[in-house]
Amino acid sequence: MPLIDPHGRLIRKLRVQLTDACNFRCFYCMPAGTRFHPSHLLLSPEEIGDIASALAALGVDEIRVTGGEPTVRPEFDAIMERLARTSWRKFGLTTNGFLLAGKLPLLSDLGCRHVNVSLDSLEEPKFRSITGSPHFRKVVASILKAKAMGFEVKVNTIVFRGINDHELPAFLDFSSEHGVEVRFLELMKVGPSIGVHEERFVPAAEMIDRLRAREDLLPVPSSVDSTSFGFRTPRGGRVGFIASESQPFCGACSRLRLTATGKLRSCLFSDTGSDLRGRDPLDYPEILREVMALKPTGRLPRIPQPMNQIGG
Ligand code: SAM
Ligand code: SF4
Repeated sequence: MPLIDPHGRLIRKLRVQLTDACNFRCFYCMPAGTRFHPSHLLLSPEEIGDIASALAALGVDEIRVTGGEPTVRPEFDAIMERLARTSWRKFGLTTNGFLLAGKLPLLSDLGCRHVNVSLDSLEEPKFRSITGSPHFRKVVASILKAKAMGFEVKVNTIVFRGINDHELPAFLDFSSEHGVEVRFLELMKVGPSIGVHEERFVPAAEMIDRLRAREDLLPVPSSVDSTSFGFRTPRGGRVGFIASESQPFCGACSRLRLTATGKLRSCLFSDTGSDLRGRDPLDYPEILREVMALKPTGRLPRIPQPMNQIGG
C-alpha cells in the first residue's frame, strides 16, 4: 500500500542521519564551537536497521544515508550492512568524500550504488577556506574512484556569490570530462547560512543563464518528486539544479527524515517530529499519520538549526 499524506503526496523516500558529527567545518553548515551528540544517544546499527525495514514495509522504497558526515560514525559499516538487508528501489549515500574511497568496496558489495559527494570548489585553496579541510585531492580522487568502479556519482555544489560562482563553467567541464553529474544547489536559509544568505545567494535561474551563455543546456526529464531538474550538454556534461529557495518542491515532496537520535521528521525546515526509539513497529502506522499530518505544504522561510544537526 503506498504511503499518502493528508495532502495527497506520495511518501516514499527516507533520509537517515547517522551522526551530527563531521570531519569538515563547512562555514555554511557547521557553527564554530559545535558540540555533537554523545554516542549513547545515537541509534544503534540494529535500531536503524529495524526502523528502516519497518518503514519499508509501510511503503518507503528509497533510502539515503547522510549526516553530519556519515562515514565518521564508527559503526558505519555495520549500519550499512543492516540497511542492506532490506531491499530498496534505491540505496544511496551523501558524503563529503574524505573517507569514501576506503568504503567503496563495501558499498559496492551492499548494493549502495548512488553516491553523492559534496564538492564546493575545484580550487584547492578555496576548497580549504569553505570546508576547513586541506583534503581537496582526496575528495576528488574518491569521486573519480567511485565513477571508475561504476557507481552512480553526483557532485553536489552549493553556489555562493563572490566565493565560487566563477567556477560554474569549470564544474561543467569537470562533468563532461569525467562523466559525473554536477548538481548546483541554491544556498538555503538553514543554520549559519541565514546570516550570509543575502550576500551569497545565487538563484538557479541566474546560474542557468550564465552557463547558457557558454554552452547549450538541453533539458532532461525528471521524476515528479525529484528535488532537482537537469540538463545535458552537447559535450556530454550533465548538470542539475536544486532550487529549493527560488523554486521550492514542497508540493511533490516525498521525503521523511530519521535523525541520528531516532526522531522521525516530515520536513527539513520543521523541527517537530516523533520519537521512534523504543516504539513498537505496530504503532508506526499511527506515528506516520501524525508525522505526515505535520508535513508543511509550502516552503517555510528558514530554520535556525544547523544542517549537520538536521541531517542534510
Ligand atoms: N557531510 C555530508 C556532505 O557534506 O555531503 C552529508 C551531510 S551535508 C549536511 C548534506 C548536504 O547538505 C551537502 O551537500 C551540503 O552541501 C548541503 N548543505 C548544507 N548546508 C546547506 C545550506 N545552507 N544550503 C544548501 N545546502 C546545504
Ligand atoms: Fe560536514 Fe557535510 Fe556540514 Fe560540510 S556540509 S560541515 S561536510 S556535514
